[in-house]
Formats: sequence, C-alpha cells, structure tokens
Amino acid sequence: MSHTKRHQGSPYEIPARDIVGRPGTQRVLSEQFPAPAVLGTDMIGVAAGTEVSLDLSLDSVQDGIWISGTVTAQAVGECGRCLDEVRLTVVAPIQGLFELPGAEREDEEEEPEDVYEFDGETLDLTEVVRDAVADQLPFTPLCDPDCPGLCDQCGARLADDPGHTHEKIDPRWSALEALKADAPSEKKES
Ligand SMILES: [Zn+2]
Ligand SMILES: [Zn+2]
Repeated sequence: MSHTKRHQGSPYEIPARDIVGRPGTQRVLSEQFPAPAVLGTDMIGVAAGTEVSLDLSLDSVQDGIWISGTVTAQAVGECGRCLDEVRLTVVAPIQGLFELPGAEREDEEEEPEDVYEFDGETLDLTEVVRDAVADQLPFTPLCDPDCPGLCDQCGARLADDPGHTHEKIDPRWSALEALKADAPSEKKES
C-alpha cells in the first residue's frame, strides 16, 4: 500500500471541500482498500476485507459535486444449481450528483435519478458503492450458464459426472426396499 491514509473514517468518505463551490474544477481519485462491510447478498457478494478499487472523477458543479467512475471488486458466491463456488469480478459504474443543501433545481419535474445528500465537506459513497455493486450481482449466481445442477437422486454434481445414471438400486436403497416388503407382514402379526 503506497497511497497515504486519507483519514480515519470509512474509506467511502471522500473529503471534497477543496473543490466545492468552484465549478469546473475536477479531481481524479484512485483508491484501493479492504471492503469495510459485505457488499451484496447471502448468495453472492464482496466479503468484508476483500480489496475494493475505487476510480472516480469528482467534478465541481453549480449544485455540488458530480461523481462518475467505477468500483471494482471480486465477489464470491454459491452456484444456485450445484452449490459450487462462483467467483466473479464486479466492475460497477458509479454516477451521481452530491447536491449541496439549498441547491435550487430549475425544473423540479426533471429531478435527476442519482442525487445524494452532501454536507459540502465529505462525499459519503457508502450507499452509492453498495447500490452499484448490488446492481451488477446476478440474482441467481451460476458456475456456468449451462450448469446441469445436482443429481436429484444422489446429489452428485452432474457437471463432474455427466453420464452417471441410477439404473441399479443402491445397496442402501435395496435394504430399505426389503424392510418395506417386510413391514406389511409385521403389521398382520400384531
Ligand atoms: Zn453450478
Ligand atoms: Zn446420482
């Protein structure tokens, strides 16, 4: 880690006081840090501690700071069909306006979508990053789009053993079959 520590708080909190109120000025930022919290869901997500890269342009505009860039991190999850590990690199676009309090929009009906509160000092990207990563994660992660899943009889991962069949009854099952066959006669006796 060669970059200097910015401050003590969350790495998602970006000080921007130096460019606030100076429309036209820009700052480019490139940071790597361990994710302070999980990004994503139980099915798939970026684990806390995984390295996150944040590449952003901060543009000072009349109403605040316009941010654009990407967040990149590796997500790990479980295949929704065979439960194998799924790893994918998430490159999530980030974009939005951190709006100064009291900023007046000319046309209220055309409210831009991605507007965040801004105190004039620090951009809090926690929510922005969380939403951007969540948008890129699949609802049902798959190890392969054609993953055949698990055998419904023995639970084997079919991608590892595509040809396997169950023509013969497993010895354990035949023992069970034998028990079942005995059961009615037992009932008759009692
Ligand atoms: Zn799978
Ligand atoms: Zn099987």
